[in-house]
Amino acid sequence: MRELQSLDVRGRAVLVRADFNVPLGPMGEVVDDTRIRAAVPTLRWLVGQGASRLVLASHLGRPKGPDARCSLRPVADRLSKLLDMPVALLPVELDEARLAASAAPEGSVLLLENTRFYPGETANDAEFGRRLASLAELFVQDAFGSVHRAHASTVAVARLLPSAAGLLLQREVEVLSSLLQQTGGSFTAVLGGAKVSDKIGVIDNLLPRVGALLIGGAMANTFLLAQGHRMGASLIEPDAVEVASSLLSGEWSRKILLPSDLVFAESLDRPETAQTVQVGQAPGNGAAYDIGPATVQAFGEKIRTSETVFWNGPMGVFETERFARGTYAVASAVADCPGFSVVGGGDSVAAVERSGYADRIDHISTGGGASLEFLEGRLLPGIAALEEPAHA
Ligand code: ADP
Ligand code: MG
Repeated sequence: MRELQSLDVRGRAVLVRADFNVPLGPMGEVVDDTRIRAAVPTLRWLVGQGASRLVLASHLGRPKGPDARCSLRPVADRLSKLLDMPVALLPVELDEARLAASAAPEGSVLLLENTRFYPGETANDAEFGRRLASLAELFVQDAFGSVHRAHASTVAVARLLPSAAGLLLQREVEVLSSLLQQTGGSFTAVLGGAKVSDKIGVIDNLLPRVGALLIGGAMANTFLLAQGHRMGASLIEPDAVEVASSLLSGEWSRKILLPSDLVFAESLDRPETAQTVQVGQAPGNGAAYDIGPATVQAFGEKIRTSETVFWNGPMGVFETERFARGTYAVASAVADCPGFSVVGGGDSVAAVERSGYADRIDHISTGGGASLEFLEGRLLPGIAALEEPAHA
């Protein structure tokens, strides 16, 4: 993967694919600017190296065509404040955008409208790729959260211009690759969340590399059911019982650590009925919504004595205060881990931010789906496109 620093950008126009897919509030305001801030180092570097102009591209939400509610206008405003320089939003019409970009003064930062306004984007359409490429002379990919998708702004355009990875993408790849190079027993993975089937590729790829795999959240319910435990009305995934069962009797079974106790309640909206139950002694009614205190203790000890830890997937329904304890306790243990700690995944990152321990974690991935697909060992299309020679 070619790196940003190897590009000679002085006096040249650079198209930067960034990840500005931020949550917007009811008034169209940016609710969380983490992703915009994450793009700043690469943009500053390019400005500092004397690029003649930057044309930035990103998607936001999932509009099926031009849609004012998904305009990047609020992103332009926020980015302008963060960079402390004007950021002009270009017209949606691409020919107009190209004229406006070429007429902009030396050193300008320009933002293209939402790439999903154009039908060619998700189709990875070659013609739309060419139109994007015509906006610049070089391409920098920095949208780690989008490189698992083969779209025109991640793949087609990268094949048409000399291309390189931005600083954010480089860091993500470096960190996640380092996890896949682990072989010693001191690497612990913690997986939770809703579904086994979403994470089966990650489990398969990590099991040979970890010393221990701790499983919590609804994912654990399916494994416990596979062991023959009654799980009441707990969220389980019937189609995944068989695969859970084969993992529990497979080559790496001794590495898998499941909860020994759970927090059961009659239903999600009756948290006052919560009680700790030992696995195997679940009441006939009610469901498991969190890991119990003995499990928190066991998982915490393992995490705190690991040299490397990767965590994805909440340990319970952390959106409800009463069922957030297990998740926050794991966040605290991951923060205490004396070695290298990494968190990835959409809801997991939200949980870590809410827990208050985020700043003591070494790396919080900006890519939800992308970080998981990377850890499945797949070559992601937007990264693969950077390896190919450009035929500009
Ligand atoms: P991520 O986005 O980090 O990959 P997932 O999307 O796989 O995580 O899972 C997150 C969801 O899993 C959360 O909304 C959480 O409420 C849910 N969850 C975790 N544990 C349970 C449980 N025991 N029962 C029901 N839902 C759960
Ligand atoms: Mg999720």
